[in-house]
Amino acid sequence: IARTSQLHASLTQTTFIAVKPDGVNRRLVGKIIQRFEEKGFQLVAMKMIQPPRELVEEHYAEHKGKGFYNGLVDYLCGGPVVAMQWKGKGVIARSRAMMGATKDAAPGTIRGDFSIEVGRNLVHGSDCAEAAEREIKLWFGEDKINYEDACEKWIYE
Ligand code: UDP
Repeated sequence: IARTSQLHASLTQTTFIAVKPDGVNRRLVGKIIQRFEEKGFQLVAMKMIQPPRELVEEHYAEHKGKGFYNGLVDYLCGGPVVAMQWKGKGVIARSRAMMGATKDAAPGTIRGDFSIEVGRNLVHGSDCAEAAEREIKLWFGEDKINYEDACEKWIYE
């Protein structure tokens, strides 16, 4: 039975978050997922994959030609990635804030608390709605599970 969501549909976003291979190898997958769960966001898709080079090249197409590009692609292809879709109000901007800045992320953020180098910064998150849509399609196609958020009324007013 479909239930009408209390939350206005236009406020509900879905974003693409990935734990990069350093996060998997450093056993930080659980901690990173826990941050988003504790915030109140809803996990709607997740898979662990060894990404093919072409997928990573397309994912980071905007950086092609930059000095760090080849190293970046090697880094993402260097081990398994945990790819996820997270849903919630303002999740795109809020998850970026939780991850921390690309460089010199502040303490209290995922990158700030667990990483030192920009090229080993543990986590990816879409930076805008267009990127989220593109990245979800690229990594998941249509795969996601829409299920009732049983504690929605305790998270949203
Ligand atoms: N990166 C890097 N060197 C740089 C800038 C970026 O190795 O000087 C890597 C880093 O892993 C970053 C990714 O490239 O997460 C993508 O860069 P972007 O500017 O899109 O940062 P993000 O959106 O991940 O914060």
